[in-house]
Amino acid sequence: MPTETITGPIATEMVSCDLCGSDDQDVLYTRLDPITGREFHLVECRCGMAFVNPMPTARSIPLLYPDDYLKDKQDLQSLYGRMMTYLPEPEPDDGVLLDIGCGRGDFIHYAAGLGRRVEGVDLLTWETPHDVPIRVGDFLAMELPERHYKIVTAWAILEHVRTPSAFFDKISRLLQEDGRFVFVVPNFGAPGMRHACTEDIPRHLHLFTPRSVKAHLSNHGMEALTIYHHDDLYTAYPFGLVRYGLYNLRGKERRCTKYQNRSVALLRNRQIKGNMGVWLAEVFRKVGPVALIVDAVDLAVGIAVAKLSKLMGNYGVMTVVARVNRQKKSNPHEEDC
Ligand SMILES: [Zn+2]
Repeated sequence: MPTETITGPIATEMVSCDLCGSDDQDVLYTRLDPITGREFHLVECRCGMAFVNPMPTARSIPLLYPDDYLKDKQDLQSLYGRMMTYLPEPEPDDGVLLDIGCGRGDFIHYAAGLGRRVEGVDLLTWETPHDVPIRVGDFLAMELPERHYKIVTAWAILEHVRTPSAFFDKISRLLQEDGRFVFVVPNFGAPGMRHACTEDIPRHLHLFTPRSVKAHLSNHGMEALTIYHHDDLYTAYPFGLVRYGLYNLRGKERRCTKYQNRSVALLRNRQIKGNMGVWLAEVFRKVGPVALIVDAVDLAVGIAVAKLSKLMGNYGVMTVVARVNRQKKSNPHEEDC
């Protein structure tokens, strides 16, 4: 639970594209956020970035997160084990692993248990049972030693930040010459994901594509060694496509509350999450029989499209292993936006 108590209205502001600076964007969809009770627009830029616009201001970001946000994200030992497989093999006199957005430090605690030297940073203070070094505050404003870290990890973090480009820049400067940056981001370029409305908007402020990930890396002296498209760490299902298709026969529907899979939306209710019995009871209570049939078909379609996406190598979640390549640093304004 965060120790800060910040209350008050969520302020938003219009922003330019973080990758290319363009102000020319199309609205992909509008989502009513059940946590804040506010509607937010997801817009798409031609450079391959999608982002919330108007975007919550920096001071408003903590207001987007409920106190129990990390409730479902604690002590996932098998997940941490799979995350470790993306890191380079440990070497004698190995450098330090820095985990950005480390939360309670569960992952770095796991890595430390395997002999890694670890540090973590997080924007908020969380109660933690672990004795691991965590710095709290704005990562971009922190004084950290440059060319010092062997590995930087950001597990599903870059989609939560207002300026991913500033993170790529700082991470590049913090890494040793042979360092690795390992991160996971959503891929809205995967089949169905542009309209699925299953992203956690507005906690997810930025969505990526393989092309925009490569551009961010290249702009800041890094390059992707591998971009993995699979559900090994996180899953992404484009639910809602059936109603989206039906609505679009009668004109564009951009308010995804209308076309989302209602049964799946109930599953995402924080009180229900993880309890299948309660979920099914709620589905039968709140979703009518016709809507339930549509949801069942949509569920099957979403699962099939996700499986196909994985086979096509264009899945809704990307795990990226990148390395430093300072010679390849490009002009960020060369992107074709
Ligand atoms: Zn752009």
